[in-house]
Amino acid sequence: MSSSPIIVWFRESLRLSDHPALYEAARSGTRIVCSYVHDQESPGLRPLGGATRWWLAQSLRALQAELHALGAGLVIRRGAAAEVLCELARETKAGAVYWNDVAQAAPRAVAADVEAALAEIGVSSRVFPDDLLVDPAELRGKDGRGPRVFTPFWKRVLALGDPPKPLPRPARLSHAPGGASLPIDELALEPLKPDWAGGLRASWHAGERAAQARLASFLETAVQTYAADRDRPDIEATSRLSPHLRFGEISPRQVWHAARFAAAERPASAAGIDKFLSELGWREFSRHLLYNNPDLATRNLQPSFDAFPWAQDDAALQAWQRGRTGYPIVDAGMRELWHTGSMHNRVRMVVASLLVKHLLIDWRLGEQWFWDTLVDADPGSNPASWQWVAGSGADAAPYFRVFNPVLQGEKFDSHGTYVRRWVPELARLPAALVHQPWAAKPLELAEAGVALGRTYPAPFVDHKPGRERALAAYASLRTSD
Ligand code: FAD
Repeated sequence: MSSSPIIVWFRESLRLSDHPALYEAARSGTRIVCSYVHDQESPGLRPLGGATRWWLAQSLRALQAELHALGAGLVIRRGAAAEVLCELARETKAGAVYWNDVAQAAPRAVAADVEAALAEIGVSSRVFPDDLLVDPAELRGKDGRGPRVFTPFWKRVLALGDPPKPLPRPARLSHAPGGASLPIDELALEPLKPDWAGGLRASWHAGERAAQARLASFLETAVQTYAADRDRPDIEATSRLSPHLRFGEISPRQVWHAARFAAAERPASAAGIDKFLSELGWREFSRHLLYNNPDLATRNLQPSFDAFPWAQDDAALQAWQRGRTGYPIVDAGMRELWHTGSMHNRVRMVVASLLVKHLLIDWRLGEQWFWDTLVDADPGSNPASWQWVAGSGADAAPYFRVFNPVLQGEKFDSHGTYVRRWVPELARLPAALVHQPWAAKPLELAEAGVALGRTYPAPFVDHKPGRERALAAYASLRTSD
């Protein structure tokens, strides 16, 4: 056994199974120091939002517990990764540092600095592909551009065949002492005064075990009706794996292979599983877009949008953020987000469309709010989806698609169950009115205890003029091309 330990640097794969860097380090038989660096100093890294900071704290606790169960520990430090890892390598006399790649420009730049700094002190580095099904560099065209349209992109990914099989979790780790470690509380990731995370705690369990349990139960039950029901926010019809994938508590390879195995075992689930995997494909597509456009969260992919006449309307933005726009499905979504750190995908599209199209507010402000409040806030999927809704993105929704929030509510929450859960002041309205309380007669409102403008707001902007205003703004863009 070599006397110099290997440091495994945990980045965005906060799990023990299918962890290529950990697997290789364990296989070598060398002693291992597992470490996590809370890096808020290296340039270019987007600071986490409030909800993802909360998640990260839970995820680190779960990882620490898993490592303890193997007789190992997690050395947590704070600072610029290159400095911290060099210091840790010196202290532990490590010969090498292993980590999983994060295929994004800024994390790769940080990793390149780490590699150079380690080389200077004679410590070697090994990097393993990890967080995607396919290396984004592989799918760049001859012109050096990455994929722009989802369907051909996904066909190419499928044509490449199955991704590598997931690696097993090491049965044991030969642990080397890693010296001082910060308690997770000292990273100050969780809100204290005020502690707004009660709804998050009630809604989620972070960590690898919770992720695996969620995947298994989804593949046993809900996946069978996924294709038909995935757009319904009133029932739990989707996997709810997104924050687990965001922090690498489960890998896309694990999800892929488990889903394929379930399809082979239960052919009746095959249609649902294909649809489910294509949604995983949207995650992949968004990450490839990010890889090829590192400024995805700030720059319109279609430059013509730089001239878009966005409105400056703080009151409207605040009403949207607080779930007080007067459109029940939108308000339900925004309140679900605030309370649980998540929102159903269909409702995300509706609330985003309202902000960008009816209210003409710059998609970047919506993206930033989601970034701060979503537990799954993802550097690829969040800006890519916002650009998709706004029409400024690569494979974007057509500019004339302006969701009608009433029809969307009636179609996907036909009994009003979702709205009643999150907008209790409308709970006593019948299903025919719960998505448009302004259409109720005074007596119907009185019977339901609703006083429009007092207990619940009137719509901030009416759908028809809002839609026409949006179309005019989009038309001005096309004539200025
Ligand atoms: P499932 O339906 O079970 O899908 C399985 C997995 O596929 C998800 O966990 C997710 O990783 C991926 N996925 C599903 N739909 C999409 C999609 N449209 N785009 C990209 N990946 C997808 N997703 C995020 O993970 N992080 C974000 O920050 C995020 N921001 C969004 C912002 C807007 C405006 C919109 C319209 C969508 C956004 N999404 C984001 C995509 C989608 O809403 C969530 O991935 C989904 O709601 C997560 O629920 P689930 O895990 O139950 O999904």
